[in-house]
Amino acid sequence: MKINWTGFSKKTPLERQKLISSLLTEEKQTLLRDNKQLALKTADQMAEHVLGTFSLPFSIAPDFLIDNKIYHVPMVTEEPSVVAAASFAAKLIKRSGGFTTTIHNRLMIGQVALYDLKDKKIAEQIISSHKEQLLSHANEAHPSILKRGGGARNIWTEEKEEFLIVYLSVDTQEAMGANMLNTMLEAIAPILEEITAGKSLMAILSNYATESLVTAECSVDLRFLSRNIEEAQQLAQKMELATHLAQVDTYRAATHNKGIFNGIDAVVLATGNDWRAIEAAGHSYATQGGLYRGLSNWFYDRKKQQVHGKLTLPMPIATKGGSIGLNPTVQLAHELLNSPSAKELASVIVSVGLAQNFAALKALIGTGIQEGHMKLQAKSLLLLVGATEKEATILLPRLLKEKHRNQETAQELLIDLRNQK
Ligand code: NDP
Repeated sequence: MKINWTGFSKKTPLERQKLISSLLTEEKQTLLRDNKQLALKTADQMAEHVLGTFSLPFSIAPDFLIDNKIYHVPMVTEEPSVVAAASFAAKLIKRSGGFTTTIHNRLMIGQVALYDLKDKKIAEQIISSHKEQLLSHANEAHPSILKRGGGARNIWTEEKEEFLIVYLSVDTQEAMGANMLNTMLEAIAPILEEITAGKSLMAILSNYATESLVTAECSVDLRFLSRNIEEAQQLAQKMELATHLAQVDTYRAATHNKGIFNGIDAVVLATGNDWRAIEAAGHSYATQGGLYRGLSNWFYDRKKQQVHGKLTLPMPIATKGGSIGLNPTVQLAHELLNSPSAKELASVIVSVGLAQNFAALKALIGTGIQEGHMKLQAKSLLLLVGATEKEATILLPRLLKEKHRNQETAQELLIDLRNQK
């Protein structure tokens, strides 16, 4: 069923739930309505020393056109304006043709770090001549992944200072594969020690997932930057410059990338994935070439009168494993996305990162980031000092007029309002 998203932001959560109900099964609709996301018993199975559960807003960014398919993206974030910015960017990008993505590969890499080797060159030759044996030993340690079409794919070595590092790549199919790889690596470590007469310092998955790269690209027509063509062209040039700034200045690059992860983390969290792993992968990838750089690129295509954006990231995301199957709200998030495969989900997530980046840059080079943020922050301040939703609506224009928009001012305004009653 086609959903009419007009005025979506003005609706109440219950009205929104009703509008999107065709995307969910009865069971998940009830789950949303009752707002009972995670049973204590289940939470207790997921982590240790559990006292309770912890809630965050669960939102939706509608209408992402990605590889000619529409996705309504679940996002979990506590930061105001992230979902609004992603939704706004998705709308403009959809009208300009949407996102296209490329999955370069989907293998996870792990490592066994060997040391105390007499001759690293000879050890490398020995490992190379035992490659098939090591691969099949790795697969024997986790045979179920073979049945699913995955398994160990390659083994190679690199000398780094006193270490000889043995890398193993594995096709983990729908799982992120941390436990899978760790099991395989721990199984081959004693063999490596035996054949090289070296010692294994550790055997562990690497989060620098350079064989799980995904690229998202999109173009945005200049008319969406500004109705005034001259201003739009200036903004397009500034967008290109902003990209360059994030390539040459680490202070800017860190914030540029944080903006990208505002969107990425929210979807990663909603879909029950390990956001620390995705962050580690992205930030380590940003240091390729020795300097920490901005992860995305925007260029002004003067011929087509568009800005073209591109974001490449490691995205070792999963649809199975970890706590994904345990948390009902996570299952709901997968349902909203129409139960994508891990590859499809990776494409969605990198596209959201690019959309978020577009929205942030557009604001930065235009009116500045604060204008958009101000309203939401002012409202948060009012709610923080105890204003009801109704009081916050009355007080918001007053607080926005104040020079010092802080908790103290919000408190004073609230007291004044209540005294007037
Ligand atoms: P799991 O240990 O949960 O393994 C994946 C599970 O998914 C297996 O039980 C597997 O079943 C099942 N599965 C079902 N269908 C499929 C399918 N189509 N393809 C693949 N697996 C399928 O998770 P991972 O090994 O993926 O590890 C991820 C977890 O490890 C996360 O919770 C992460 O936080 C954590 N972790 C992360 C680390 C890091 O990032 N450095 C380090 C250590 C842990 P079967 O067994 O039958 O194959």
